[in-house]
Amino acid sequence: MVNESNYKSKNVCVIGAGPSGLVAARELRKEGHKVVVLEQNHEIGGQWLYQPNVEEEDPLGRNPFLKVHSSIYESLRLMSPREIMGFSDFPFMVKKGRDTRRFPSHTELLDYLKDFCEWFGLREMIRFNTRVEYVGMLDYDVCSNNDLKWVVRSIKKKSEKVVQEVFDAVVVASGHYSHPRLPTLKGMDTWNRKQMHSHIYRSPEPFRNEIVVIVGNSFSGQDISLELVKVAKEVHMSSRSLNITEGLSKVISKHENFHLHPQIDTLHEDGKVTFVDGSSISADTILYCTGYSYAFPFLDTKGMVVVDDDRVGPLYEHTFPPSLAPSLTFIGIPRKIIGFPFFESQAIWIAQVLSGRKVLPSWEDMMKSIKEFYHSREVAGIPKHCTHEIGDYEYCDKYGERVGYPPLEEWRKELCISSILNYFANLETYKDCWDDNEKIQEALQSPHFTQFGLQDSSL
Ligand SMILES: Cc1cc2nc3c(=O)[nH]c(=O)nc-3n(C[C@H](O)[C@H](O)[C@H](O)COP(=O)(O)OP(=O)(O)OC[C@H]3O[C@@H](n4cnc5c(N)ncnc54)[C@H](O)[C@@H]3O)c2cc1C
Repeated sequence: MVNESNYKSKNVCVIGAGPSGLVAARELRKEGHKVVVLEQNHEIGGQWLYQPNVEEEDPLGRNPFLKVHSSIYESLRLMSPREIMGFSDFPFMVKKGRDTRRFPSHTELLDYLKDFCEWFGLREMIRFNTRVEYVGMLDYDVCSNNDLKWVVRSIKKKSEKVVQEVFDAVVVASGHYSHPRLPTLKGMDTWNRKQMHSHIYRSPEPFRNEIVVIVGNSFSGQDISLELVKVAKEVHMSSRSLNITEGLSKVISKHENFHLHPQIDTLHEDGKVTFVDGSSISADTILYCTGYSYAFPFLDTKGMVVVDDDRVGPLYEHTFPPSLAPSLTFIGIPRKIIGFPFFESQAIWIAQVLSGRKVLPSWEDMMKSIKEFYHSREVAGIPKHCTHEIGDYEYCDKYGERVGYPPLEEWRKELCISSILNYFANLETYKDCWDDNEKIQEALQSPHFTQFGLQDSSL
């Protein structure tokens, strides 16, 4: 709690109880704000709350409000090593009787988040089974940015009771790995065999003996192919670039039923799929592993924040919309970062700006910074849809510096890099074999891991 005379305690609504929303709630409360977290599901965890039943979801996830949030499949194991994942003051420890693997299953991360929630007493702030349907400005025409308030309309699942409330501030922590990003393909609308997005993929069994085309060769495309190739008759991976990693190349050469193709040219009504090199196959299923788009179907900002080709903007430092901040903020937007510590530093900054302990630059300076950032990305040849792909430790360190958040530990950065390199080279085995043991030991002896003592852990 701060004591300064200009300190303000705000009534804040956080949307979502995934990792971003949980750490936001903790930091906002720590800063003395009154916090309510609205979560559409019955439990915390966000993406890590596995949802096996997807029957009610549109296979291509084309509805603005999705029925299913999580895109996690049954066999999924983390792709980041556990040591790098923890929030700064809550290491992701190995616990006896749980999944002790370095790249554990998704349920282990959910258990970590539940532990985090219990440890910091966060549950009391969360209203479960409460879906936010509308967020908009109250008396927008007559209010200045400083006293802008927000109307939040939510609906209780089952009873369908609608509640409308007014908050001083809204923190959007609704995630961005649910709404499919789909390609536009000739014949896609008339192709009458099975087509679906990886958002609703759960297990390989329904594809037994099928001929499956996987569109996209990024993380999900590769991971899902690894298990499909064992049950499907044939797996055909189609992607923009045939320049593949050593790891994927090894897998393809090991399996006679795994084939690589360039982009799809046309989907034909009789099930034929033609690729841009003129080759074709007849397929049973097209599985789009083409990534996810940002979507905020509940949010009405009168056009002051828009999603344009996966650029959410304008957002100062991926967090603050200059015309609406600090009463409206976003957490968890960046991609290609070590997520949890970054979300934590975002949460601290948001909490401190709302209390008045920190002040944002002027509207002009925030806009100038955003324009400069966009320009630097354009000059570097980075497409618009990659605006929030950061992939830069220095950026994360500088971001946190503003609120006294410690820079990422060297071991965290190095373990992240060595895992990615291992993934590129050894796709099939990287989650079980590695050669960065020395760095792991360094991590386990660092203050991050020893802050609670080692008694809880069988490290
Ligand atoms: C297949 C897959 C694998 C991944 N693997 C890794 C990994 O190995 N390591 C890693 O660091 N990250 C991984 N991620 C990324 C993962 O999304 C993040 O780790 C993390 O979950 C992001 O947290 P978040 O809180 O921002 O969003 P989410 O986890 O998506 O949580 C958002 C929450 O908001 C709620 N919500 C949304 N809309 C509403 C609404 N209208 N009303 C009320 N509540 C709402 C949702 O129900 C959800 O609980 C993976 C993602 C996917 C899809």
